[in-house]
Amino acid sequence: MKESPRPLLLDLTRAELRELMAQWGEPAFRGDQVYTWLHKEVVASPEEMSNLPKALRARLEEKTLVTPLQLITQVDSQDKLTRKALFRLPDGNTIEVVLMLYNERRTVCISTQVGCGMGCTFCATGQGGLARNLTAGEIIAQVHWFDRWLRQAERGELRVKRPARVTNVVVMGMGEPLANYKPLMQAVAALSDQDTFGLSVRNITVSTVGLVPMIDRLAAEALAVKLAVSLHAPSNRLRNKLVPINKTYPLEALMAACQRYQAKTRRRVSFEYALMAGVNDAPDQAQQLADLLTGLHCHVNLIPLNPTPGSPYQPSSDEDVRRFRQVLEGAHIATTVRLRRGIEINAGCGQLRQAVQQPDVIPLLT
Ligand code: SF4
Repeated sequence: MKESPRPLLLDLTRAELRELMAQWGEPAFRGDQVYTWLHKEVVASPEEMSNLPKALRARLEEKTLVTPLQLITQVDSQDKLTRKALFRLPDGNTIEVVLMLYNERRTVCISTQVGCGMGCTFCATGQGGLARNLTAGEIIAQVHWFDRWLRQAERGELRVKRPARVTNVVVMGMGEPLANYKPLMQAVAALSDQDTFGLSVRNITVSTVGLVPMIDRLAAEALAVKLAVSLHAPSNRLRNKLVPINKTYPLEALMAACQRYQAKTRRRVSFEYALMAGVNDAPDQAQQLADLLTGLHCHVNLIPLNPTPGSPYQPSSDEDVRRFRQVLEGAHIATTVRLRRGIEINAGCGQLRQAVQQPDVIPLLT
């Protein structure tokens, strides 16, 4: 008979942990203690939960899992400011997580699904399809893993300067976050719980490729996270090709949802735009984009595409990126060009995973 998997403690809310302790014949307050060890102290093992009786620690060790992540490989960018890690989950699936050390920020880019069902034609993850949704605990564990890593780094092992804690989370890794809504929101609530992990909800960014009804649902939440929309094209004609979900929720509907999100949350919406040579990077397309965004309090992130081997899409030249930006700024749209720091570590989503699955396709730089 197949052994049933051990429950992941990070999947449980505080109330559920209290319930579990009660089921085990322990006082319910033990649930609060375990919750604090997990979400405030970010421990990796029940052994570290020093105010619990030894027998309870042993039982937790035997019957449950604290972290579902087993590190397979990690690679650093040459400037040592980006680290990408590939993890194996207990069911054998793999996910990617990226840490970026820019200025005072310690940003972790996390995944919400194994693979992705959105099928964007320029994306390595999109080509493989969706395997499954991640649970809340699997999402939280990605942030915790790098938080632990940073704390150790502060102790001198890895020479990371302060602050040696995760300060920002961007939900922009593998998967469409809003297609895995409930676990995502449980994770956001846990990470922004001011009594434990304590991230400011203002420092959590959730990206979407444009699931309009879910943007409205997100707007109605008390937790007003920052919304980032992966746009990549200024017209329906082109976006239908690059981002197939556009056929269901075209630009007019998406822009209207962004207006509603902004009106409800008072938060600036950001738009991600991967620049691809000869596809979406001409000055008249920049003007089209500017026209589309006029009247919206927003910010545009231009990202020269991370090239994927075998893909027909190539990154735009520096000159084309500069011209594109100039048009947007001429229209008074706040624009940033995201540095391609991660490029040599396969930092486009899904690329490290693909490199490990098909090592002959993308050489790993370790
Ligand atoms: S770009 Fe994002 S939404 Fe599109 S296929 Fe890739 S992971 Fe999915």
